[in-house]
Amino acid sequence: MALLELVDVAKSFGSLKAVDGVSFSVEAGEIFGIAGPNGSGKSTLFNVITGIPFGPDRGMIRFDGEEIGGLSGNRIARRGLARTFQRETSFDGLTVFENALMGLSFGATKMPAAQAHEATAEALTFVGIDFASFGRLAGELSVYQRKCLMLATAIAMKPRMLLLDEPASSLTKPEIEASVELIRRIAGRGITILLIEHVLTFLMSLSQHLLVLNQGSVLAMGAPRSVIEDPRVIEAYLGT
Ligand code: ADP
Ligand code: MG
Repeated sequence: MALLELVDVAKSFGSLKAVDGVSFSVEAGEIFGIAGPNGSGKSTLFNVITGIPFGPDRGMIRFDGEEIGGLSGNRIARRGLARTFQRETSFDGLTVFENALMGLSFGATKMPAAQAHEATAEALTFVGIDFASFGRLAGELSVYQRKCLMLATAIAMKPRMLLLDEPASSLTKPEIEASVELIRRIAGRGITILLIEHVLTFLMSLSQHLLVLNQGSVLAMGAPRSVIEDPRVIEAYLGT
């Protein structure tokens, strides 16, 4: 059974159809990639799935067999669906540990405090942030470390599914390789991953299925190899 299923999901801003009738499903345990030129509606799609900051105008979104479309972001997170953002979203004046605890303290789970602290420490260590850095201010971290921190914040919530919005953007080549490795390790924990990336090659090496969005609609979907050879996909990418 699909863990996440979307049918005819749409979201407009005024007359702009940012997401325009999108349908797909993600199987439990897989890494499902979403590509598309800038402005094609990738981040908006994540927003409507997670309810942060808004739900869809229409369509059905089912997570683990239950409709979640239009629920609040917190209620969706509590069901086990966590996300990261395209831009690093740390609170620079707070410590690394305080930041990573944030997803748990805003009522996204009902974990007792001691358990929340333990989950946070474990998640930070898992993404490669060592104990000595827990007390550093988030503002002192590099872009790569901030991305890891954002991942740790999401992982601490012990999600069943994680939505990653361009985790490789503005990283160096070795950092991108480290990210690929980290995403594989997250999937190895049994967390289903929905992964947005502008760079097609990044998705190729990670995803079992690939969907390409263009102007809010699904342009192509299927096995990564067949999707990137699709003439419509090549044209959409060359046209930008
Ligand atoms: P992508 O993530 O694929 O680059 P986005 O989902 O961010 O694309 O944006 C899709 C389209 O919707 C763009 O034209 C963008 O300008 C517009 N858009 C996104 N968010 C908003 C918003 N909150 N208000 C108005 N327009 C928006
Ligand atoms: Mg985006």
